[in-house]
Amino acid sequence: MANPKRKFSKSRTRKRRSQYKIKTVKGVTCPNCGSPMIYHHVCPECGYYRGKLAIERNE
Ligand SMILES: [Zn+2]
Repeated sequence: MANPKRKFSKSRTRKRRSQYKIKTVKGVTCPNCGSPMIYHHVCPECGYYRGKLAIERNE
């Protein structure tokens, strides 16, 4: 019996996969300095986490 060689074309597969990593890392704004930061992480700008100074930032 004749069978189709593939279910989806390469183009169709690649178009679908092109959507896979479009979302960026979930971020929130720091309540201390207002800069974007990663949720459940120490703020990269001011070093605060959950309202406390977690790491010292010497600028
Ligand atoms: Zn901050």
